[in-house]
Amino acid sequence: MQVVNPATGELITTVPATTLAETDAAIGRAATAFESWRAVAPADRARLLRRFAAQVDAHLDELAALEVRNAGHTVGNARWEAGNVRDVLDYYAATPERLTGRQIPVPGGLDVTFHEPLGVVGIIVPWNFPMPIAAWGFAPALAAGNTVVLKPAELTPLTALRLAELARDAGLPDGVFTVLPGEGSVVGERLVTHEQVRKICFTGSTATGTRIMAGCAAQVKRLTLELGGKSANLVFADADLDRAAATAPYAVFDNAGQDCCARSRILVQRPVYDRFLELLEPAVRAVRVEDPTRESAEMGPLISARQRATVASYVDGAEVAFTGSCPDGPGFWYAPTVLLAGSPADRHWREEVFGPVVSVLPFDDEADAVRLANDTEYGLSGSIWTRDVGRAIRVSRAVAAGNLSVNSHSSVRYWTPFGGMKRSGLGRELGPDAPLAFTETKNVFIST
Ligand code: NAD
Repeated sequence: MQVVNPATGELITTVPATTLAETDAAIGRAATAFESWRAVAPADRARLLRRFAAQVDAHLDELAALEVRNAGHTVGNARWEAGNVRDVLDYYAATPERLTGRQIPVPGGLDVTFHEPLGVVGIIVPWNFPMPIAAWGFAPALAAGNTVVLKPAELTPLTALRLAELARDAGLPDGVFTVLPGEGSVVGERLVTHEQVRKICFTGSTATGTRIMAGCAAQVKRLTLELGGKSANLVFADADLDRAAATAPYAVFDNAGQDCCARSRILVQRPVYDRFLELLEPAVRAVRVEDPTRESAEMGPLISARQRATVASYVDGAEVAFTGSCPDGPGFWYAPTVLLAGSPADRHWREEVFGPVVSVLPFDDEADAVRLANDTEYGLSGSIWTRDVGRAIRVSRAVAAGNLSVNSHSSVRYWTPFGGMKRSGLGRELGPDAPLAFTETKNVFIST
C-alpha cells in the first residue's frame, strides 16, 4: 500500500498489505495470547499498560511528526493526539484493579457477578484521527483483559505500526496487541467474519458501519459503532455573538473538517443572522491554512485527491458566502468555505462533507431550531450558544445527539462517555464505563 504525504503529494513509503492467511494467523496468535493475558494479575496488567503509556510519552514528538507526514495534521494537533494516546492508556491502566463484580443477596447461597473479558477484539479505524480513535478502543479492551487486533485505515498505517513497536518495547506479550495494515475488504472483513474475534469496535462511515453490523449479526458478535455526523451549531440571538462567531471556524475546520464531530451546520436565529455572518467572515479568512509542520498552522491539507474531489462536489453549484485561503498545490489543499443553505433539502446541508465546508441557515425560534437540528439521520455532536440557562437545558435535552456542548465546542474528553445516536453509532466509548463494554457480565450462584 502506498503511503503518501497529503501536504506534498509525495510517496513516503510503501507498507505490505496483510493477506487473508496472515490475518487468520494473527487472530490465532491473539486467541492463544488471550488465555495467558486474561490470567495476568491485575497489578501486573496495569503496570504493563502504564509502561506502554510511558513509551508513548517518550516518543511523543516522533509519533506526532509521523502523523503530520502521513495524515497532514497540524503539528499542534498531532502532538495533542499522541498525548491523548498516552493519557487514555494511563486512565485505563487503573481498570484491571477496579473492574470488580458484585455480590447480590440471594437466599440459600452466595451469588456473585464477574466481568469476564471477551477474547480477541478487532478494532477497525478510519484515517481522520488514526492514533486517538485506535487508543479509545485498545486501551479499555486491553485493560479489561482482552487481546486486540487493530486494523488501521489504508491511507494512514504508520503511527499504528509504531504503536505496536512501542507496545512490544513496553513488554506486552506477543499476540496481545497486533497491528495489521491492510484492505478493509480483506483484513477488516476477516475480523468481522472470524469466529474467534468476539467483538468489533468500528469507527468510520455509516455505509461501512451498516455493512459491518450485518456481518456481526450472523454471529451475534459484540459491536461498537462510531459513525458519521452532521452536527448543528445553534446560535441563539441572546448568545455571546463574538465568541460564537470567533470559535465557529475551529468547530468545523479543525483537522480540515475531517472530523466526525464537526459542527458543519450553523443555525443562526434570524435577528442576529446578518451580524453573525459579518463576524464570521474575518474569523474564517484568518484561519491559517499552511504547511502542517509549521507551529503556526491551524489547518492542513485534506487526506487525498479523492477526498478533495468529493468536497469540491458539494461546493459546485452551491451559494458560497465567503472562503478563506489555502496554498496552491502540490498537496491536497482546500480553502475553508462557508455556504449559504437555500433550504434544508440542499445536499451540502444534509450529507456529511468531511472537509472544510460549513453550511449556514437562519431559524425563527427555539422550536424551529430544535426541529432543524434534528432533521438529519445523524446524531453525534452539537453546540448550543445562549445566555439563557433554561434554554440551554431545554435545547440540550431536545437535540438528539450523543455529545453536546453549551457555549463551547468541546466534544471528546477521555474520562467522559462519547458516541452517537441514530445513524451516528451504537454504544459508547471512553469514560469510566468503557471497559465494561469489553466484558461479559457473568452471574454465578453457589448453593450452601
Ligand atoms: P470508511 O468507513 O471508509 O473506513 C473505515 C475503516 O473501515 C477503514 O479502516 C477501512 O479499511 C475499513 N473498512 C472498509 N470496508 C470494510 C469492510 N467491508 N469490512 C471491514 N472494514 C472495512 O471510513 P473513512 O472514510 O476511513 O472515515 C471517514 C468516516 O469515519 C466519516 O464518516 C466519519 O464521520 C467517520 N468517523 C466517525 C467517528 C466517530 O467517533 N463517530 C470518528 C472519526 C471518523
